[in-house]
Amino acid sequence: MPSTRVVIIGAGQAGLAVSYLLTAASIDHLVLERGRTAERWRSQRWDSLRLLTPNWMSRLPGWSYRGADPDGFMPAADVAGYLAGYAESFHAPVRAETTVLSVRRHRGRYLVGTDAGSWAADAVVIATGFCGEPAVPAAAAGLDPAIRQVTPDRYRNPSELPAGGVLVVGASATGAQLADELAADGREVLLAVGRHTRLPRRYRGRDIMWWLDSMGVLDRLVDHERIHRHPEPSLQIVGSGPDAHPRDVDLPSLQARGIRLGGRLVGLDGTHVEFADDLAATAAAADAKLVRLFRRIDDHVTAIGPEFEVFPPGRVRPFVADSVAAPARLDLRAAGVRSVLWATGCRRRYPWLHVPVLDAAGEIRHTAGLTAAPGLVVVGQRWQTRRSSTFLDGVRHDAAIVVDHLMTTVLMSPALAESVRNAS
Ligand SMILES: Cc1cc2nc3c(=O)[nH]c(=O)nc-3n(C[C@H](O)[C@H](O)[C@H](O)COP(=O)(O)OP(=O)(O)OC[C@H]3O[C@@H](n4cnc5c(N)ncnc54)[C@H](O)[C@@H]3O)c2cc1C
Repeated sequence: MPSTRVVIIGAGQAGLAVSYLLTAASIDHLVLERGRTAERWRSQRWDSLRLLTPNWMSRLPGWSYRGADPDGFMPAADVAGYLAGYAESFHAPVRAETTVLSVRRHRGRYLVGTDAGSWAADAVVIATGFCGEPAVPAAAAGLDPAIRQVTPDRYRNPSELPAGGVLVVGASATGAQLADELAADGREVLLAVGRHTRLPRRYRGRDIMWWLDSMGVLDRLVDHERIHRHPEPSLQIVGSGPDAHPRDVDLPSLQARGIRLGGRLVGLDGTHVEFADDLAATAAAADAKLVRLFRRIDDHVTAIGPEFEVFPPGRVRPFVADSVAAPARLDLRAAGVRSVLWATGCRRRYPWLHVPVLDAAGEIRHTAGLTAAPGLVVVGQRWQTRRSSTFLDGVRHDAAIVVDHLMTTVLMSPALAESVRNAS
């Protein structure tokens, strides 16, 4: 059986960042990828999707954006090209079209079984992504089959949905962007709004991500207990094309588009849906948080001094529900709704992982990516060490941590570990 020091599962940004660091340290390894490099950016993103982070915020170990539009937002296909270029730059040993079917311990090493043969390795890096598959509520099974159900990984553009209205469930970046796109296409859109983090595209003349980066918000180490007690909802923001003005997709702008907003979806039976009476509270919480963020930015401006020319402080335009808000209960058929788009987040599954590192919910138990199994690490998990852990721009920190750990444990070479620290 072929043998290597490290098998990395997944050739997205996380797997490639780890591969770069191992390559820099001359560690023999393989990246096993069931599709092509950056597969999710090729086949699981909708046509109009652009990064919500500016192009300059794509810093990977040994690779950064060098294009003509650092403040722009790459479309998904360009992100795939960006990552493929990265892999080529250091000849990443990616084996495409190779699906990992099993990982198990064998005589102190790992046996990695795939649909194209097996490998023995001293270490395994799980880099299969935090967004393995869509998380659709169990209630979806009760929806009338005459109404089409679709998830964001399969949605491409409005023309694929049956004629008629659409219920979009979830108002973070994905739900808000798709509701906006469908309404712009002339559809009647209902949006079930759950908790979200409202972010304007720009504040005081700069991109909001510039402020978050400048304040260190994205790269600050996470207090996991706090995050567990008060989970932070996902961002509500959109990137724009080169010919369009930066814009917001928030509840006021979606409402102005004519989208009917409701609270969280709490009931679904056949064609009947029920929304919680929590829209005003959800919106108020998101607005209050944004007010606090603006204040922090204003304080930051004061602290750094007038080094940067910025516009004066701004105000949050609070959301006020208008008279066409969705009713508490609704018959979708009577309302002309022909499809439901579930923008309700992601989940992960590891049916191939036969090493006892999963918790009761099926998530990998780890601390900063390190599991209790020697040589088994994970990278690219949500909140792995910081908010940016799942971002193109943040995965480098966690890649360095797991590679450093492997070097000083199963790969056993402090000198090599030092070279990795220097490379990252
Ligand atoms: C809609 C959307 C928009 C996003 N926008 C941004 C953004 O603007 N900016 C930003 O910084 N981040 C963004 N992200 C977050 C993040 O950058 C992406 O989720 C990114 O794809 C995560 O990279 P990854 O390498 O961790 O995982 P993935 O890209 O998911 O890569 C995992 C790879 O593992 C492979 N794989 C899975 N199982 C197996 C197996 N059994 N065998 C072999 N291979 C396997 C998959 O095919 C895949 O290629 C976005 C995420 C989503 C979902």
